[in-house]
Amino acid sequence: MNLNDTQITQINDQIKRLTQTESYYGKIYRGLGITGIRSQKDFEALPFSSKDDLRNAYPLGIQAVPDEQVVRIHSSSGTTGKPVIIPYTAKDVDDWATMFARCYETAGITNRDRIQITPGYGLWTAGIGFQAGCERLGAMAVPMGPGNTDKQIQMMIDLKSTVITATSSYALLLSEEIVKRGLKDQICLKKGVIGSERWSEKMRGSIREGLGIELYDIYGLTEIYGPGIGVNCEHENGIHYWDDYIYIEIIDPKTGRVLPDGEEGEIVITTLVKEGAPLLRFRTHDISRILPGKCACGSPYPRIDIIRGRSDDMFKMHGVNMFPSQVEDLLQNVDGVSSEYSVTIAHDDSANRDIMILMVEAEGRVSFEKTAAHIRELFKSRVGVTPKVTIVPVGTLPRSEKKTKRVTDYRFS
Ligand code: ZN
Repeated sequence: MNLNDTQITQINDQIKRLTQTESYYGKIYRGLGITGIRSQKDFEALPFSSKDDLRNAYPLGIQAVPDEQVVRIHSSSGTTGKPVIIPYTAKDVDDWATMFARCYETAGITNRDRIQITPGYGLWTAGIGFQAGCERLGAMAVPMGPGNTDKQIQMMIDLKSTVITATSSYALLLSEEIVKRGLKDQICLKKGVIGSERWSEKMRGSIREGLGIELYDIYGLTEIYGPGIGVNCEHENGIHYWDDYIYIEIIDPKTGRVLPDGEEGEIVITTLVKEGAPLLRFRTHDISRILPGKCACGSPYPRIDIIRGRSDDMFKMHGVNMFPSQVEDLLQNVDGVSSEYSVTIAHDDSANRDIMILMVEAEGRVSFEKTAAHIRELFKSRVGVTPKVTIVPVGTLPRSEKKTKRVTDYRFS
């Protein structure tokens, strides 16, 4: 999806804003002689920005406005190394609330709803984003924050909350508790707005049934405002994103080449009107694709597909993008199989083709031969890739904390 004229003007304003400052990107762009863009081609020649840049600029190196204009910061928790700090101006906070309110509206939520907010408040962008969007919409916020499940359920019943906002894991926990305590008849929930971490169909089904609600995936990341830059509509056909605030391109994560609409790759986001910390071509490492064409809901906003995984975890077989999470999703429905597995990918020189060897653990009570055949068929029909499957007894494979360690790729790339 190419930039329109308005977006090109907005990006030029962002470049101007940056190059007039001593900010991290201001210095980089000045050094590279970047003064603006006139075409799609110019834009695609701009360098990418990344989380590493933001870490290098810690704490406030990316700030692109004078101190007196910054009203708040948020931070993304760094699992590795330094955290990232993002400064917001009053307009940034305001824009974010507008986008978030639009997410609620897209999910069919109105000012008559009561929105129970369970994500955390504080440095993290989640709770406060859900709250600001709710207030902008004019709905009633029930600002619970995370945890304390007893009180959470009590408030949900007493205040007749109609919307729950949560991470997928907390929504699952709540739904299991409500089912276990036999309280489903007493809750008034109709919809759930769930943070966009990747979650399986199985989990989605449990939450949907346990709470008897419609589910909406909200997308966002701290570096780009926070959650609220996109959400799915009732047609559940991808995530609408707000192209008056952000521009999205999809790139090949290996080469950085921009991919045509419909092709899967890494989401790269450019902020169009951000003041505190504008970001051009920010690599998210989230994998999705732009869905071509209009949605049946008639929304003018473009769509990306639901997030398939992280580019860091992705491996490619016969041109098909695959993720460890996908392997897990397929294996979790196979009887007698443990959650441990290993994937080895190699190139068979004699046949000149890639082969995928999947090693899976199974309990002694099931036939290893039949289980292997079943898994082979499952992969063939669902993914279009047929692995060589080896079944070993439970406890054979090395236990590893990291998903990526389960995949070994011996191909030369
Ligand atoms: Zn739609």
